[in-house]
Amino acid sequence: MARYDLIIIGSGPAGLSAALTARNRNLNFLLFGSRNLSDKIAKAHRITNYLGLPDIAGADLEKVFRSQIDGAGIEIREERIGMVYSMGDYFTLQVGQEILEATAVILATGVSSGKPYPGEEELLGRGISYCATCDGNFYRGRPVAVISGSPSEETEAEFLSGICSQVLYFPLYPETPSLPENVTVIREKPNSIEKNEDSADTKVTLITDSGRYPVDCVFILRQTISPGKLVPGIAEENGHVAVDRKQATNLPGLFAAGDITGTPYQYMKAAGEGNVAALSAASWITKQKKES
Ligand SMILES: Cc1cc2nc3c(=O)[nH]c(=O)nc-3n(C[C@H](O)[C@H](O)[C@H](O)COP(=O)(O)OP(=O)(O)OC[C@H]3O[C@@H](n4cnc5c(N)ncnc54)[C@H](O)[C@@H]3O)c2cc1C
Repeated sequence: MARYDLIIIGSGPAGLSAALTARNRNLNFLLFGSRNLSDKIAKAHRITNYLGLPDIAGADLEKVFRSQIDGAGIEIREERIGMVYSMGDYFTLQVGQEILEATAVILATGVSSGKPYPGEEELLGRGISYCATCDGNFYRGRPVAVISGSPSEETEAEFLSGICSQVLYFPLYPETPSLPENVTVIREKPNSIEKNEDSADTKVTLITDSGRYPVDCVFILRQTISPGKLVPGIAEENGHVAVDRKQATNLPGLFAAGDITGTPYQYMKAAGEGNVAALSAASWITKQKKES
């Protein structure tokens, strides 16, 4: 299997800045993220504190970032990284059904808003999943529910509609979902998920403010999942990834940048940390290559 120098997870300001620096340092790298870069860029009304771009709308900042990334010939792979495992001197990453290897990884996945649903953490892997592409095939021919944080997750529900017997879709956003006809859109607020102790038929029940929905799996698709769930063994501090001034985490070769490392949540801070993380990753990769 080909091993990349670096894999960058996240296409917000931190991940994009890291990718530009990785390109300048001629690293063999991949960048994973979203087609709209980051909801936190697109949804910002007016930004007045980004150096060099005074008073700019979020949608326009997104265009400027995209044009710089395109100009540098950097491709964004629009897939979710499901898990990152430290193997000692390299990493394996799960992307759907695929496994990738990299010498270094930069986590630039931002922060997730909102608490986990009651039942979510206990039932993870036993009727709850964060990735339809990774786990959908386990529920072939079975009923599933999708709690979706943004329209960019609709492709995941579309994929499930082709293999599952029933897909119940709970959008947490105001836009009208554009989904195949066999997906049932339900505008109710999910409250909790329970294990079905007595039913051999379905595994869990999604409970909303006005209904109960027994299914085999609830896919919870958020823009970001917590660092501890993405990378087993990563050290956290007050809910954020603990890093030093080189943006290094406790796992050798793993760096983190942006909102994921803590407040202040700001574009400039995220972009600056992305730059430092990529330079630190470049030094780490050079050292690893010399040693092997
Ligand atoms: C409405 C709003 C207005 C704001 N206004 C300002 C402002 O005026 N000035 C300012 O300085 N800051 C502002 N901010 C804060 C700013 O948006 C954040 O600090 C900044 O976006 C953080 O950048 P980031 O790269 O760390 O993370 P994000 O921008 O959150 O990007 C994270 C990226 O990681 C991707 N991702 C997450 N998990 C995975 C995974 N498993 N696999 C692949 N990709 C993944 C996401 O899709 C996303 O692309 C605002 C925020 C909001 C919400």
